[in-house]
Amino acid sequence: MTLRTDRRGLLVVIAGPSGVGKGTVHARVRALLPDAVLSVSATTRAPRPGEVDGVDYHFVSPERFQELIDTDALLEWAEYAGNRYGTPSEPVASAVAAGHVVVLDIELQGALQVKAQDPSALLLFLVPPSFAELERRLRARGTEEPAALQRRLTRAREELEEADRFDVEVVNDDLDRCVAEVVAIIEQARREER
Ligand code: 5GP
Repeated sequence: MTLRTDRRGLLVVIAGPSGVGKGTVHARVRALLPDAVLSVSATTRAPRPGEVDGVDYHFVSPERFQELIDTDALLEWAEYAGNRYGTPSEPVASAVAAGHVVVLDIELQGALQVKAQDPSALLLFLVPPSFAELERRLRARGTEEPAALQRRLTRAREELEEADRFDVEVVNDDLDRCVAEVVAIIEQARREER
């Protein structure tokens, strides 16, 4: 797991517990940052209906995932709710070196691994207005079986306790406000990098 950049671009992690609205915030932020590049993670999780291999994730077998770890092809990886997820390093390193903003949608353990390797990476943590609101959003989404939903809620509680290990916390109370704040923070960080 090595990351080499010449610091022209910026690596940004936008993390936050399942159900906080991360996917929507990510999509909106990327739409507002024209040179932002999407990192496509590898996962052992099964595709959800509508998810496309190579676009939403690289869906791989547990054996293939182990190979990616063994060949040092991942910038970071973590187990999450019974599956493995990881960021392929090469596409991230080349995009950052080419001057792009690369935004990662990853969970907490992976985010901390990224920061350990590249202290110039910017770590943003999205928090819900309250835990009750997070639970309501996650149930309303209806994408998980009850057991998986419980695992995600447990993990969300653990993640929220560690939010202060990130550079900035942003409350996703109102989507437009939250997205505007995230974009402003990224733009400020890019100005500081140059
Ligand atoms: P989901 O199964 O809902 O797509 O993702 C579950 C969790 O895994 C989310 O918190 C998501 O941000 C995280 N995740 C997705 N890709 C990666 C990755 O490459 N590395 C890590 N550490 N977490 C990831």
